[in-house]
This record gives sequence, structure tokens and C-alpha cells, in this order.
Amino acid sequence: MGWVSSDDISRDGLSRDGLSQDGLVAPPGANLPALRGHNAALVLGLLRAAGEQGVSRRELAAHTGLTPQAVSKITARLRAEGLAAEAGRRASTGGKPATVLRLVPGARHAVGLHLDRDELVAVLADLTGAPVAVRRAPLAFEAGAGPVLDTAGREVAALRAEAGGPPVLGAGVACPGPLDHTAGVLHRVTGAPQWDGYPLRDALAERLGLPVVLDKDTNAAALGLARGMPSGAGSFGYLHLGTGLGAGLVLGGGLYRGPRTGAGEFGHQTVQWDGPRCGCGRRGCIEALCLAAVARGDLPGAAAVLGAGAANLVELLDIDRVLLGGRTVLENPDGFLAGVAEVLGGQARARGRTAVPVALARGGARVVADGAAELVLAPLFGVRGAALVS
Ligand SMILES: [Zn+2]
Repeated sequence: MGWVSSDDISRDGLSRDGLSQDGLVAPPGANLPALRGHNAALVLGLLRAAGEQGVSRRELAAHTGLTPQAVSKITARLRAEGLAAEAGRRASTGGKPATVLRLVPGARHAVGLHLDRDELVAVLADLTGAPVAVRRAPLAFEAGAGPVLDTAGREVAALRAEAGGPPVLGAGVACPGPLDHTAGVLHRVTGAPQWDGYPLRDALAERLGLPVVLDKDTNAAALGLARGMPSGAGSFGYLHLGTGLGAGLVLGGGLYRGPRTGAGEFGHQTVQWDGPRCGCGRRGCIEALCLAAVARGDLPGAAAVLGAGAANLVELLDIDRVLLGGRTVLENPDGFLAGVAEVLGGQARARGRTAVPVALARGGARVVADGAAELVLAPLFGVRGAALVS
């Protein structure tokens, strides 16, 4: 699909030719009827970013490149749908006080489901991504589809019953990869090969009676952590060390999955040719080395291995930040932060530049479930790299 640039928009709010010259100009706003969904998403995105403070119609027009008429039309529709509300007036330069519009966070909910190897975490999030209800239950992911669907169905029903309230947009589901995000199908998950080829997205959509988006746990977490980052700006690697090791990559403000959802298989980079056997079948993967160090109680060793992987990622992608999460990190956050920071510091000295900062990912043990809800919410707000497939 081609977007029109704001330069191509004539005064009546219609594009002259519907496409910029090279056909590649990205948003902001396009005043074409066919792109109404896109424009509404732009407006909703600005309302979400403005938070409590709200935003005037004039500001919406200025930031989207849409005509005032187009903005009025969209905001009238959003108000009719209960997604936006007027919230008083404030002084504006050189004119009458402008009416401020705000997002109504409780107008819709989204489910976020983290299917971990031994636990399910379910959150119900409002439109800002804030959780309004959380449930946890034991889960045996290796047991296969039957028990997993039963547990997910029961917990999501209980979550919705607890919270009551507004319509639920859909469920974002995050689980161990590899998987195909676009098709909603699992591949050969390490330690759980019976899932290979299983259409988990469609099976869950039928069981839950909701549109479902499926993604890797690391991608969901990274998408949630990128919330609020402007499109086109900023990059980070989220390193998740739990029962496995993986990464979610946000590059230029957008989640990078790769065309086959194959990006971020961070744990299976070979760092020692003759190293210990990994669950993936090869030897010397960074996941195998890191988990082996954890298993023998060598936390500095595990942190050093994680740091070496983080340094490789920095070399490869020139990212701005490294974020750490996952159960194993959360059991000893200071140790992992210090160990990774030491390796990144050494790398920076060797390269004669400032060290890339490392921090704990916000959300703690809920980071993946919160991010899973964002799989559903992000497309509503026009976030790049987050198409809702239902
Ligand atoms: Zn491996």
C-alpha cells in the first residue's frame, strides 16, 4: 500500500494522485477514504501519547498533516465509539481556548497471555497498556495443545469475569519460539517438538472466541517495552533469560521480527565450536553455555556469557540500549546487570566510545504478558511492525 504525504494533500482533503512520487513516503496523515483506518490510528496514537494532558484538534491536525475537517470527522467517530472524550478547554495561542480531547483508557480491554514452559500469566490491559487484572496458573507447555488450550480458556474466562467491563479487542499470545507470527503456527520449540506445525493462533481464537495474535515471548516483551517510543527513533535489544535465552529487537522504533519471525534467536549463536550440546542439537550455543553456568551456580560466569552475547549484538546492530529480563535474571538482577555492564564497558574501552547502557526491563515477571496485550493494542494506535492478524 502506498501512503500519500501531507504535501500531496489538497485543501479539500483529497490527495491529488493518491501516491507520492516514489510511492514510498511513509505516514503522517493521508486524507483518502480508503486510509480512514490508518488516519484514525494516527489520531488515536497521538491521544495515547498525550495521556492525561490531552490534545486539541488543532494539534492533531498539525501532527498528522490531516485537514481540520478530516480531524473533526475522525474525532467525532472516536467519541461516538467511546474511545475519546472531551476534557475541558485550555488557552491556545492567538485564538479562542481549544477543546482538549483525551483517550478513554477503559473504553476497551485487551488480553495478554504468556504461555511459559511451566506457568501461564494472563493480564487484562486497558488502552494505555496498564493491567487492570492479572492471573497466574501452573502450565505444562510440553504437555501439548489439549491441556494448554484448557488452561488458557479457563484462565481467560476467569480474568474477564473478574474484571467485567468493556469489550475485549482480542488476545495477544506469547510463547517460546521458533514460530511463524504471520501464519500463527508453532515450529519446533526446543524441548517441545510435538508443537511443530500446530496452528496455535487459530485454535486459541476458536477456544477464546476472540481475535488472537501469536508471537514469540521475546518479541511480545520488546513490543511492550517499545511502547511510547517514536516511530523511526531509538533501538534496543531485550535479552530474556529464563528457561531459555532469546532476544527481542527494536530497531528504529519498530519491532524487527524478520520475514519468517526468525530474528532474535540470540541464544543459538555459536560461541564455542566444541562447547556443550545445546537443546537445539548443536554445540556451544550461548544459551547452552549460559544455562550450564546457571545450573552449576556460577552466576558471574552466566552474566559474563550473557554480556558477551550482548556485546556481539551491539557490534552487529549498533543499538542504543540493552534491557534484561526473564526469570533467571530476576532471581539475581544486580549480578546480571553488573556482569553485563562490565563486558559492555570493556567493549567500549576497546572501541574508544561510550558504553551502551544496560538496564532491567520494566514490568518484572509480567514483561511478556504485558507485551502480549500490546500485540493487540499497538495496531490500534498505528504502531509500525504490529499488524493485527485475526
Ligand atoms: Zn542452540
